Amino acid sequence: MKLKDKVALVTGAGSGIGRAIAALFSAEGASVFLTGRRRDSLDATVKSLKGRSAVSTGDVRRPEDADRWAAECERTFGGLDILVNNAGIIGNGGILDFNRSKWRDLMDTNVEGVIEVTRACAPLLVKRGGGSIVNLGSVTGIRPYGGLLGYCVSKAAVNMITQSLALELAPKKVTVNAILPGVVVTDLHRTGGMDEGAYAAFLERSKTTHPSGRVGTPDEVAEAALYFASPGARWTTGVLLSVDGGRALTAAR
Ligand code: NDP
Repeated sequence: MKLKDKVALVTGAGSGIGRAIAALFSAEGASVFLTGRRRDSLDATVKSLKGRSAVSTGDVRRPEDADRWAAECERTFGGLDILVNNAGIIGNGGILDFNRSKWRDLMDTNVEGVIEVTRACAPLLVKRGGGSIVNLGSVTGIRPYGGLLGYCVSKAAVNMITQSLALELAPKKVTVNAILPGVVVTDLHRTGGMDEGAYAAFLERSKTTHPSGRVGTPDEVAEAALYFASPGARWTTGVLLSVDGGRALTAAR
């Protein structure tokens, strides 16, 4: 039980990677505070949890929701030890088909969402005398992909947020690390606009773009989050950890 007596707040806990993290943290003894916009999917995650949990709907793009989550989490569980900034969206588009409202949505969700939820929750970690923040970046934050401008920029920003906050919060015994997954099978790409046919073709092609010969699973990403959140990683901060079957190492040849 690596997270016995710990309290974790996970954004985007109703599906994919966030759901896997909530389930693994719960199995490791944590009380889990689950957030996201859709109540039904959060409730479905709760069914897979073993221990104490609470659900609160809201939107990472709304700073007042972040403040409310922090207050509710403190009221319900007495504090907070682990924050997982997992909620995120993807959207295609480059400079020639630039769409301002899609760009804003990516920045508001993937960048300012991380900032605002962290702003609201970090004081609780400091109050506890230390804790961990785990951010979900992406291989796209360290490798550019044409036609994916907003997403790549947003995930590169997550890396800098991670390392800047790692320096700021280290004296407070709060670690800040990021996981950079390759392609993982979740709803992300389809919600972001890929139809079923295009997604199937993308997954097939991903077998060749990942040296491991396959895409990843949410559970494999959750294991990395567990490491960063566990006491064994208390001196590990500012790390951008690729969990991608070797994807970030590749270059066209
Ligand atoms: P999912 O689409 O399954 O999960 C994303 C979650 O974020 C959903 O539960 C969604 O819930 C929540 N969310 C989205 N927008 C908001 C918002 N404005 N406010 C609150 N919650 C929101 O995708 P993944 O599990 O794949 O994605 C999780 C993270 O992993 C993301 O940050 C993603 O960028 C990153 N990632 C994923 C990869 C992949 O291949 N799948 C690869 C690299 C990184 P709801 O709609 O109910 O709000």
